Amino acid sequence: MTDPLWVDPADAHHPTLLGTVEVDVAIVGGGLSGVGAAYGLRDSGATVALVEGRTLASGASGRNAGFVLAGPAMPFGRACALVGFDGACSLWRLTVDNNRLMASLVDEHQIDCDYLRRGSMSLAVSDEEMRQLAATSERLVEAGYSASVVPADDLPRPFDRLYIGGIYYPGNAEINPGAFVRGVARAIGGGLHIYERSPVLELRTGTPHVLVTSTGEIRAHTVILTTNAYTSALLPAVPIAPVRGQVVATRRLGRVVVPFPMYANFGYQYWRQTPDGRIVVGGWRDLDIPTEVGTDERLHDDIQATLDAFAASIAGADAVIEYRWAGIMGFTPDALPMVGGLPGHPGIYLATGYSGHGVSMAFMCGARVALQAIGQRPNLPRSLSPDRFFDAPVPTTTVLPQPV
Ligand SMILES: Cc1cc2nc3c(=O)[nH]c(=O)nc-3n(C[C@H](O)[C@H](O)[C@H](O)COP(=O)(O)OP(=O)(O)OC[C@H]3O[C@@H](n4cnc5c(N)ncnc54)[C@H](O)[C@@H]3O)c2cc1C
Repeated sequence: MTDPLWVDPADAHHPTLLGTVEVDVAIVGGGLSGVGAAYGLRDSGATVALVEGRTLASGASGRNAGFVLAGPAMPFGRACALVGFDGACSLWRLTVDNNRLMASLVDEHQIDCDYLRRGSMSLAVSDEEMRQLAATSERLVEAGYSASVVPADDLPRPFDRLYIGGIYYPGNAEINPGAFVRGVARAIGGGLHIYERSPVLELRTGTPHVLVTSTGEIRAHTVILTTNAYTSALLPAVPIAPVRGQVVATRRLGRVVVPFPMYANFGYQYWRQTPDGRIVVGGWRDLDIPTEVGTDERLHDDIQATLDAFAASIAGADAVIEYRWAGIMGFTPDALPMVGGLPGHPGIYLATGYSGHGVSMAFMCGARVALQAIGQRPNLPRSLSPDRFFDAPVPTTTVLPQPV
């Protein structure tokens, strides 16, 4: 019982890379960022290959909770302190654009991924959290976004007895993220060459750049790394730390318990109910932050037990757990992703490190970095440039000790 609800990670639909392939652009990683990059290139005329170590959406993109929220992994006020008011607004715009783009693709290609836009609610466990949430919502409203304070008495039951209030954001959405990734890959169609079960073991920079797997290689003038938590295995100098998250999903319940996606305790706890009635609960990483790191998708017994107990506390004893899994997030030192050129290496680009909020922005970041990679000038916030972490070319000596 360690496979996610959203996709079967063993389910491969594309061949393994065999022999030498030459393309204009190679994308490494088949999650939201990777298929986003492929989507960005769909009409460019470039030949494109996407190479994935396991299967499409077998990483964080098929193991998350499916919250499509506005904003990166920090409250608006903290983003203002980090990148200024205008910088924070451009980050929020990027995530709102991401939500719209995902919705329009679901609609256009009839992707069966349960995309729903019924808002979300951030709940407070303490007066201090409520004060911070209220301050955040006030600043977001100033910036033109919709948010409303909900006092404890007006919270939906049973959450009125568990939390002291919250903020409702009407624009937020939810999705089966794995089905979205696989659906977009299908929609892009035959112009995109996808290789699964083909971990890239080495990146040799040059003209062209060469991506080496155990059964072949891809030669490409442009490489886009969408390798998320695994990026530092290929490029050790890129500061992305793998951090684990735990999730459970109950069996289908024949009643609505959770009316829209909810999260609390500064985002450490989150839950929602899928359209077919399953309650998905994730988080509580703060119970054991030191051990919830690394790339091993291992279950944490105590955290899993806490998720079970929470599901039972809101839905009753029949909320039997049918799925439990773990997934790996890629955290950067400032909690903003790195999206742009790899310093010192023309033709190599990154879209990675969403620090736990990639459903909210990875697809759009992948699409826009791909346009940047083919010489266009997409709207990418300057604060996401990988340059901010480097004052010299990034060393690229890379030999992955073992496949991901
Ligand atoms: C438990 C959990 C809950 C989350 N909940 C949410 C949420 O509700 N909302 C939200 O916004 N975000 C959430 N996230 C974060 C979100 O899932 C990620 O930020 C997002 O999926 C990142 O997408 P990606 O494509 O960049 O990375 P990934 O989906 O991790 O894809 C990277 C891919 O690269 C492949 N790869 C890596 N190295 C190599 C290599 N050398 N060769 C070939 N392939 C390689 C991997 O196999 C993987 O498939 C959550 C994450 C987790 C783990």
